[in-house]
Amino acid sequence: MEKSTKDKTQTSGNGSSDSAEVVLPSLAELTDEELEALSDEEFLAGQGELLLAEKNLLLEQAASLKLEAERLAQEAEPGEVQFDEESGEGGTTTVDRERNLALASQARAGVDEVDEALRRMAGGHYGVCANCHMPIPRARLRALPYARLCVKCKAGGLSALR
Ligand SMILES: [Zn+2]
Repeated sequence: MEKSTKDKTQTSGNGSSDSAEVVLPSLAELTDEELEALSDEEFLAGQGELLLAEKNLLLEQAASLKLEAERLAQEAEPGEVQFDEESGEGGTTTVDRERNLALASQARAGVDEVDEALRRMAGGHYGVCANCHMPIPRARLRALPYARLCVKCKAGGLSALR
């Protein structure tokens, strides 16, 4: 066998010149007026970025919480899950672990909400209140990209329904 240690570092010219640069101002930096002035397309693109960023954050949270829970589970040696009433220490790890698992599932629930919002966006009905079907103000969507209800409905506006 021949050892061919030839460095073939030839950068083959990547001819794809369609680097469509979308110059999007981060929605967070806009005033409410500027936010309202955006076209639907611009606004939705910005919201899409917010949603993806939120999703990544939640996924990271869920993963690290799960990892922490697993670490705690290892510390609390399996097989010795008897409650030691004298030291009472065995329970703390269990509580921490359960708290982590609960937070992790909360984070995953958040991911589901974000995914749902992305589906609504793909389906063209993002930003419409699921209850009263009125458009949700952009400022609210910016603050809560996966909001499903307008403020009125969220505040228990069900009583306003006839
Ligand atoms: Zn509503």
